Amino acid sequence: MTQYIFVTGGVASSVGKGVTVASIGRILKARGVRVSVQKLDPYLNVDPGTMSPYQHGEVFVTEDGAETDLDLGHYERFIDENLSRYSNVTTGQVYSEVIMKERRGDYLGGTVQVIPHVTKEIKHRIALAAKGSNPDVLLVEVGGTVGDIEGQPFLEAIRQMRKDVGRDNVMYIHVTLVPTIGATGELKTKPTQHSVRDLRALGIQPDAIVLRADAPIDNALREKIALFTDVEKRAVVPLTTAQTIYQVPLMLETAGLGQFICERFGLPCAADLSQWQDLVDRLLTPKEKLRIGIVGKYVELPDAYMSVREALVHATLFHNRDLEVDWILSEDLEKDRGFERLSKVDGIVVPGGFGDRGIEGKILAAKYARVHNLPYLGLCLGMQVMCIELARHVLESDEANSTEFDPGTQYPIIDLMEDQRSIADLGGTMRLGAYPCNLEAGSKAHAAYDTDMITERHRHRFEFNNAYREMLSEAGLRYSGQSPDGNLVEIAELREHPFMLGSQFHPEFKSRPERPHPLFRDFVKATIEFPRDGKQEKLL
Ligand code: GLN
Repeated sequence: MTQYIFVTGGVASSVGKGVTVASIGRILKARGVRVSVQKLDPYLNVDPGTMSPYQHGEVFVTEDGAETDLDLGHYERFIDENLSRYSNVTTGQVYSEVIMKERRGDYLGGTVQVIPHVTKEIKHRIALAAKGSNPDVLLVEVGGTVGDIEGQPFLEAIRQMRKDVGRDNVMYIHVTLVPTIGATGELKTKPTQHSVRDLRALGIQPDAIVLRADAPIDNALREKIALFTDVEKRAVVPLTTAQTIYQVPLMLETAGLGQFICERFGLPCAADLSQWQDLVDRLLTPKEKLRIGIVGKYVELPDAYMSVREALVHATLFHNRDLEVDWILSEDLEKDRGFERLSKVDGIVVPGGFGDRGIEGKILAAKYARVHNLPYLGLCLGMQVMCIELARHVLESDEANSTEFDPGTQYPIIDLMEDQRSIADLGGTMRLGAYPCNLEAGSKAHAAYDTDMITERHRHRFEFNNAYREMLSEAGLRYSGQSPDGNLVEIAELREHPFMLGSQFHPEFKSRPERPHPLFRDFVKATIEFPRDGKQEKLL
């Protein structure tokens, strides 16, 4: 039977609750415990797919095609398990379901209320996540902080769970921020006391508290919090800001949280984190630097490219290098700025994106990479941009484009497929999730994966237009990955280039710290093997 750990947040959001949950998953897995993770997001959107990266950061995509919170990316990377659409629940999903049932007449005669109907629907979704993967322990993170109005039904639902599955099978962990004040740098526990009081007012007594802080937390402080919150002192766990997020499982383990949870749940207590320790040791050892330029439009907000950055961390670590990212705003390239920065990077990544802002700058980045033989990895939009750029070169015309950015273009290199044309809704209507792809023997893609067939995760509406296959093939483009029916170009690469490759899918979602993604791994390898020429031509 599955046991549950519910993780709530207090004081402030964005203190690393997602990484903490992912790390708890890892320390349990290190004991041979089967774990899965679920995120409950109290916002009204059905999923984050329609939200701007400014609101939400990256949209993470699961194998089964759900557009989810970026914390699921941390979960997958830390516990090394694939999650599913049941792993992310939002208020939007819950209310749609409840209202649909009401219209259908399922509640006939009853008044439909937050308690019990909405809470029942939430609990049903928690049960689905447990049923789907059948873990020993399901970790459930409640998004936001205690006290948020929209979080209340979720907190009520997890409170009820204690009675539903028995108190021995449920733990509550509260993650709070311990701020430092002013010049003295004194750590303050009062906000934590208040947020635990709020939680208790809702009927939830935490079993453990994780204290996020920038400065070390001493014993006296832990004792004080233990006293005020009725939590055992050993379960008041300090978590100071780490150099890398991958240190967090080790920090929680050293603080004894794994031992505490396992004693409570009657699970095996001996943990083997030696491989993870080795990974962290290698990450923290200073190495030769490798500078990768990520050319995008949300570069001031790296959360928008969370999985891309992490995939680069994994791949550079594999090659024993330290990653240094130069975040280059694509619009700067359009204004003739930033080319000197391109001349100093060892490779360029153009990540995914939607809408026409900054597109021309991304096309210029692809051109720079092609002309200067600089390794290039294009992710979804980055592949489309690479194909458009080559077409412009062949046709000697800037008219070539995607119909996403220029619906009337004379040369629609990237276009909608027939079945996408009639779609009116924006939410959940893209090509989403894992699709198979055949690899062509002798290609760079095939060499990277070392297999004939792969599956990768998609999130896009537009595709390579087959009408231009021949023209671009003659110009040196190779369609090294294709859908099994041969209809869709999934990977395109340049023959005569050290490494210029784009995928219509998002490889970044499948990279894991101990298993870098083959395309990222070989892209980084190329950046090491082919030193940059350092030319600064602006190419405008
Ligand atoms: N906007 C492009 C499309 O919809 C690319 C999407 C992406 O990069 N994820 O096809």
